[in-house]
Amino acid sequence: MESVLKSVIVPCRNAKLGCTKNVPYGRDSSHEKEYCSFSLCSCPEIKECKYTGLYKEIISHYLVSHPLKPDCFFTFGEPRDVRMAINDKSLVLITLTKTLLFVVQCFREPNGVYVAVNCIAPLAPEVEKFSYRISYSFDGRTCCHESPEMKRILEVSFETPKDKNVMFVPNSLLRGEVLEMELCISQVKS
Ligand SMILES: [Zn+2]
Ligand SMILES: [Zn+2]
Repeated sequence: MESVLKSVIVPCRNAKLGCTKNVPYGRDSSHEKEYCSFSLCSCPEIKECKYTGLYKEIISHYLVSHPLKPDCFFTFGEPRDVRMAINDKSLVLITLTKTLLFVVQCFREPNGVYVAVNCIAPLAPEVEKFSYRISYSFDGRTCCHESPEMKRILEVSFETPKDKNVMFVPNSLLRGEVLEMELCISQVKS
């Protein structure tokens, strides 16, 4: 009986959103958890907005529902300055050539500030890959982080990332409450 159940496959839980994939019944499926391109993503303004939608649709929600920061637009492959107050915690960046949202987040810890750059999308193979380089300089010293593949998230989290895929700025290099960084996001050619 058990072996029969193991081989049963059922439609992905996002079938009504359009997914046509099948997953093994009763088991945690990595497809449903992370890879399904129909997974619902949460609006990055998570504190004030409860919107969830497909990764391709979230930008149209964002553009009509939230005031845009004047310098939120970027171009792939072009380094640009990113200025954010540490207390703001997150900054949404938009490019006119892709229907995706990118989020710069900072996390204050006792020893300094961690800065991460993520894309709001599932790990689905259909989603394009991006790389980035971020740096922060003060007093002739530079902190820098380069990622060959930007992390993709379904929802912004305010918990400091446990992985090493972030930039760290120690307290000794901070000046005041604002981080002035240089960021370059690029498309990864597949
Ligand atoms: Zn699916
Ligand atoms: Zn929203």
